[in-house]
Formats: sequence, structure tokens, C-alpha cells
Amino acid sequence: MIIGFTVKDEKNEKIRAEKQVIKTVPPKKSLVKVRFLNCGCEYTYYNDKFDLEVGDIVFVDGKLEGKRGRVTEISYGFKVKLSDFKRVIAKADTDIKGEFASSSMYFLSFDKNSLPFEKVISWFIPPVKDEDEFVDSVDDKSFLLDDLGGMGASVDVFERGKDYAYDGAVKYLSLDGTSGKAIVEGSKAYTVEFEYKNGEISKLVCDCYCVGACKHEVATLLILRCFLKDIEENFKQEFEKSGYFSAVNKDEFLQLVLNGNYKRRFSIL
Ligand SMILES: [Zn+2]
Repeated sequence: MIIGFTVKDEKNEKIRAEKQVIKTVPPKKSLVKVRFLNCGCEYTYYNDKFDLEVGDIVFVDGKLEGKRGRVTEISYGFKVKLSDFKRVIAKADTDIKGEFASSSMYFLSFDKNSLPFEKVISWFIPPVKDEDEFVDSVDDKSFLLDDLGGMGASVDVFERGKDYAYDGAVKYLSLDGTSGKAIVEGSKAYTVEFEYKNGEISKLVCDCYCVGACKHEVATLLILRCFLKDIEENFKQEFEKSGYFSAVNKDEFLQLVLNGNYKRRFSIL
């Protein structure tokens, strides 16, 4: 097996996050300084859409569209020419609540409300624009999770997928009944979807530009295999109870959720 799991969950490896009081105040116009996580560069943006705090993860328009940034400074007193500024267009929802078990490089949850895909995807990708058009189609191919040769990936793609799995490129994975979703980040983040039933994978699809099986799909299924093994050995009861699990990369979680929100209260159980 490619990825070894650490010993079973210990009490002190659980994290409980408590939700911040929901704010009802409308957003105040502000100028915010944003530091981009990929390059470390910092620029100022205009914001009238979100109630931002220092530490929040945001997306902007303009040249750095699609790149994640962290708010480092906020100013409410200003007079500027609006056309000189690009804007904050989205804010990552890092309001996370729940108990998490530790599984290798992931935090694991069996509660549907703790780490929903809809929330975690906002950490990686800004919302789609109205003018963007999407099409999708799934084939009727299916294969055993234990025999990934059936997915038809070339040796090269398979090896790259394996590296992705090793390197923690699978940032998120959830399985809700038979329906699976993952977020895999290479040069940018892609989403992988699949069905998993009786050891078999079907309806596997990734939103990257590759034709045929891609490295994001390979990485996702390798990680899924590891999770199912770890769950079988260490969290069988929890998984049987909810029929659901989700997992998020620990580094990502700690960087975005914990470090980003100084006011939020977390406790290690
Ligand atoms: Zn892909």
C-alpha cells in the first residue's frame, strides 16, 4: 500500500471547533490588503461584498483571479477612484465545527455537517461566473477499486497520480453513501466525482482538461482505498452509523481554518 496510516485515533488528536457567532451587520466598504499564498505578493483591493476580518481567505478579480489570498490589513477610512481598484469577489467559508479524528495526513469526520464539499470547495476555487458554460457526461465504465488497472490509465498517468497521492495533492475526499467527491490540487484545484458500490467504482469524472483517465482520478482512488482500509480497521462503527465520511488535508486545514481565524476558539480534545 502506498500510504501508511498512523496508529488509530487518539483522544488528543481530535479537534473541536466552535462556531463563531453569526453576524448580521451588513458589510462595510473597505480597502483590504491581500497576500497571495502562491507568490507571497501583496496588493490592495476594494471590498463592499463581504464582512472581512484579517486572516480571511479571499479570491479577487483582475490578474490574480483564481489565486487564493489572505487578508492582512483592512482600512475603512479612504477616498479613492474606484476604477483604480480590482475587487474581492469571494470569501472562503472556513467556519468549521465538529470533531475530527486523525488519519495519516488527514482529519477525518463522520458527520455530514462538519466538512461538506460545498464549504471546502470555497477554500480552493472561487464561485463560477454566470457567463461560464459547463457540460458534463459520464461513461458507463466500471472497475474494481482493488484493481485500478481497470480504469485504463497509462503507466505515466498512473505514476503521476501516485506521486500526487503521496504528496498530499488530494486535499479533500468525501463518501456519502455511494457518492464520492474529491478536490485535487496540482497547479490548480480540480474536482473528481465517482460512485462507489460493493467495491466497484463507476461514473468517475474529473473537471480537468485531460482526455481519458487522469492523475487526479488516480490519486483520488488511491487515497479512497487507504481511507476505506483505515476505516475498516479503526473507525468501522463510526462509518456504519452515518454511512458517510469526509477527510481534509491536515496542512490545508491548519493553514486556512486555524491560522486564519485568530478569534475563533478551537480546543484539542
Ligand atoms: Zn483530472
